[in-house]
Amino acid sequence: MFVIIGTGAGGAILARELAKNGLPVTILEKGPYIKSKDAFNYYDKYNDSVDLLTTTCVGGATIVSMSNMVRALDGELHDYGIDLTDSYKYVEELIGVHDLDDSHIGPGTRKFLDAAHELGLNVLKMPKAIREEECIQCGKCAFGCPADAKWSGKDFIDDAVEAGAKLITRAEVTELIIEDSKIRGVRYFKDDRKQEIFGDCVILSAGAVSSALILRTAGIDAGREIFFDPFVSVGGYLKDINFNTEVQMAGLVIGENFVLSPHFSSFIRENIPDDDVTDRDILSIMVKTPDECRGYIDDDGDVYKTNTITDIRYLAEGVATAGFILQKAGVDPKTIGSTVYRGAHPGGTAPVGKIVDTNLETEISNLFVCDASVLPISPGKPPILTILALSKRLADYLLNK
Ligand SMILES: Cc1cc2nc3c(=O)[nH]c(=O)nc-3n(C[C@H](O)[C@H](O)[C@H](O)COP(=O)(O)OP(=O)(O)OC[C@H]3O[C@@H](n4cnc5c(N)ncnc54)[C@H](O)[C@@H]3O)c2cc1C
Repeated sequence: MFVIIGTGAGGAILARELAKNGLPVTILEKGPYIKSKDAFNYYDKYNDSVDLLTTTCVGGATIVSMSNMVRALDGELHDYGIDLTDSYKYVEELIGVHDLDDSHIGPGTRKFLDAAHELGLNVLKMPKAIREEECIQCGKCAFGCPADAKWSGKDFIDDAVEAGAKLITRAEVTELIIEDSKIRGVRYFKDDRKQEIFGDCVILSAGAVSSALILRTAGIDAGREIFFDPFVSVGGYLKDINFNTEVQMAGLVIGENFVLSPHFSSFIRENIPDDDVTDRDILSIMVKTPDECRGYIDDDGDVYKTNTITDIRYLAEGVATAGFILQKAGVDPKTIGSTVYRGAHPGGTAPVGKIVDTNLETEISNLFVCDASVLPISPGKPPILTILALSKRLADYLLNK
């Protein structure tokens, strides 16, 4: 029996691949099974010291994702002997990664693409896993898709269940059961009762924070480092651009130390002291950077993060470049401002080479980790595709084994 903890980017595809190949799989998920459009109700709350975005529900954070699908950390993973070439091809085809059709590139995004091009920046359309025929272009990707038009981990959990996997929702895994240095199963809370489930192989895909805390119950000292891929949105006033209802993050500028993508934030409008300015008059850009692994999770599960001078320098470079693009795109420079600093890609808490080996196995035989925890460094880019590819590679390894 394979016991998989979590149904996000790491857990969902693993459950699908194992179940579809006839293996017995039980999936334990802390959150409920929900409709995609309700996902905004399932964001997690952290302590005051971090502004971190994750969710607890079937699909994990994939359900609120923008469906940005790019390959990341190729060289770094290769250095650990991990070649994802075939896994990427498989996953990209499976979830239908493609450039959005021009019919779904709105005027704000077009201004971003044109301005960045004129400035000589490395700009392209963001590869997405969105079904245009279902997408109603409402700008609400990060709330959970009202039209169910984008891929999420929930789709793969549905496939896994159809293929015979058992899904137990509202089941919070709290502890690993280890006997004679071997994994035997996990303990979890459901309906206020502590329960146990046994299996020959346990895969932790509970996300970077929870997987680390669960590993600690087996004496594995995970989560003493964490990265976030920090981001801010920078923007200002551009009358009637109506960017807030476009497909979000449909363009991409790749800088040396940052990526930029058009992204609406209502916080930008709130920064402008003019009652006549509405959401439809804002054009803004997300600036995302790789950060050094200088955060940690304490034993109470609280997350802390400090920023290095390099982190701040990368962010400043990205923000300055975003400012140039906005100005070129016609945004009033006097109104340009930024949101606070947040993170939506926690990872690096059980990195490959330290806590897991190249097959993502821990020092405890048949206990694996497969989610953003295993990434060795911050990608500074959307990580879902890389996590999916790592997970597909693990599924192949387990099937061969
Ligand atoms: C608003 C937003 C937009 C994003 N957009 C993109 C994007 O466009 N492209 C991209 O590549 N990345 C995006 N990301 C980041 C991406 O979603 C995450 O990096 C990715 O989902 C992480 O995968 P994971 O498997 O590590 O964790 P998750 O996907 O978070 O999955 C963890 C799962 O484990 C469950 N769980 C947690 N604790 C327990 C427990 N104790 N017991 C049982 N189950 C548990 C959770 O409920 C969840 O289902 C976005 C993130 C956010 C918040």
